[in-house]
This record gives sequence, structure tokens and C-alpha cells, in this order.
Amino acid sequence: MLGAANFLSTLAKGILIIISKSTLDNRPMTTLSGKVALVTGASRGVGRAIALALAEAGADVGVNYRERAKEAAEVGAAIEAAGRRAIVVQADVSKTSEVDRLVSAVEQRLGPVTILVNNAGIARPQQVEEITEQDFDEMIRVNLKSAFLVTQRLLPSMRAAHFGRIINITSVAAQVGGVVGPHYAASKAGMIGLTHGYANLLVREGITANAIAPALIETDMVTANLRAKPDLIPVGRFGHVDEVSSAAVMLATNGYITGQTINVNGGWYMSS
Ligand code: NAP
Repeated sequence: MLGAANFLSTLAKGILIIISKSTLDNRPMTTLSGKVALVTGASRGVGRAIALALAEAGADVGVNYRERAKEAAEVGAAIEAAGRRAIVVQADVSKTSEVDRLVSAVEQRLGPVTILVNNAGIARPQQVEEITEQDFDEMIRVNLKSAFLVTQRLLPSMRAAHFGRIINITSVAAQVGGVVGPHYAASKAGMIGLTHGYANLLVREGITANAIAPALIETDMVTANLRAKPDLIPVGRFGHVDEVSSAAVMLATNGYITGQTINVNGGWYMSS
């Protein structure tokens, strides 16, 4: 009788340990140590802040840029000074061959990438009647197609690892039109569709896909745009890049948020 009671108690303890272990395993990660991230357009602004914040959270980081080699090298050096590994790679992420070269270089140096931040983007404020077919195509290629190209290139690594975080930097422009133009708004709305498409298809594979929609974060993109004024923002000021990077770290460490758009916009657009 006593033997049976002991057996049942041991069994119950075993089950409890299994349940609590699986619960613990699913808690948000407190560190990204051992993970490799790639941030596109990380030489300045939002991308720079996200690259540094992911490194601070423990990740090794691939720093991509298009033109500003010196600024990108400084980001790489700051990551290494923080005790993480980094590689800085020039590539135009709107071009397949350059994406392939970029990812190969990062994987060769740092290992398989499982955290991707599609941040690279351009904004050309234009009068609506001035936007040409060429302008429209360029905006879609750089802001939207690039996110598709880099994600597709990295999916095999994420699937093999049964872990992935796809974070797409969209914009409030996708929701309210914004201050750049319809070509920019369309490219950013496309990123939200891309996010939903990947989130839906990858949801059982340990891979999440989310978007962050900032508004008027004080970077070169905003200070160069005469239509961007702090009084457009309900909180009455421009946002700080760290207010976006903290949302990116949250998404990188959380496995239960997927298919969402996190709005970092000072209250400009309020979601339900
Ligand atoms: P930013 O200061 O102009 O920086 C843009 C970054 O993208 C730079 O690192 C630039 O590289 C890189 N880049 C541009 N085209 C590229 C390409 N074809 N291939 C690789 N890299 C490329 O812009 P930001 O304000 O930080 O914006 C970052 C992202 O947030 C963009 O997608 C933007 O649309 C989005 N966003 C920004 C705001 C905002 O208020 N700032 C609001 C909503 C959304 P180089 O330095 O080498 O040129």
C-alpha cells in the first residue's frame, strides 16, 4: 500500500517537473546569448539602435549598410566593445545577388541567423502629382521587396533551428498615409501583408513574424522631411530610436506574439 502511494507521489512529482519545465521553456527569453541577428540598414537611425540593443541583449549581430561605411563600422565596433561578435557588410538589400552575398558573409562569420530585422528603407517626400512609375517601383523594391528577399534567404536556417524571429519595420504611413507619399505608404502597407503571410505559415515552426510601425522617430529620415513636425504627434514630440529598439528586443525574446503590428507612434494611430 505504502509502496503504491510512494510510486504515485513520485509519478506526480515527475509530471509536475515536466509541466513546469515546459512552461519555463516557453517563457520570454531573458537573453539572446548564442543567437545571431541580422539588421538591415544598421549604419544609422532606427537600424543602428536596434543592432546595438540586440547586442546588449546578448546577440551577435550582422550590421548591413548601403553607403555609409564609416558609420556602419562604428556600429560594429560598439557591438564588439560590448563583448559580442559583429560583422559589417555592405549590400543593397533590394538586389538578390547582394542579399545572397550579405547572408553568406554573416553566416560564415557568426553562424546561422535566426533573428532578422528588415529595417533598411528609403523615404522620398514628393508631391503626389510628381511621383513617377520609376519612383513607385524604386520604393517598392527597396522598402518591400528587400524584406521578402532577405526573409526568403534566411528561412532555411530558421526552419532548421526551429526558431526564428522576423521583425519588419513598417510605418504609421501604412495606417494613416503619413508624410512621405502614397508610394511610401503602399510599400509599408505591403510589409504588414508580408508579416501576416509569414506569421500564418510559420506559426507551428517556432518562427514568429511581427511588424513595428513607428511614427516620426528623430533620425535623418525625419529631420530631412519638412512635412514632419512634432505637433503631428499627440504626445507632442518626435520619438527616440531607443523607443523603437526596445520593442524590437521584446519581439526577439517573445515566442507568443506573432502576426502583430506594434505601434510606436506617440498616439498618432490607435489600434483596437
Ligand atoms: P535613415 O536614418 O534614413 O536610415 C536608413 C538606413 O537604411 C541606413 O542605414 C541606410 O544605409 C539603409 N538603407 C537604405 N537603403 C538601403 C538598401 N537598399 N540596402 C541596404 N541598406 C539600405 O532611416 P530611419 O529613420 O532610421 O528608418 C529606418 C526604417 O524605419 C526605414 O524602413 C523607415 O522607413 C522606417 N521608419 C522610420 C520612421 C521614422 O520616423 N524615422 C517612421 C516609420 C518608419 P546607408 O546609411 O548606408 O545609406
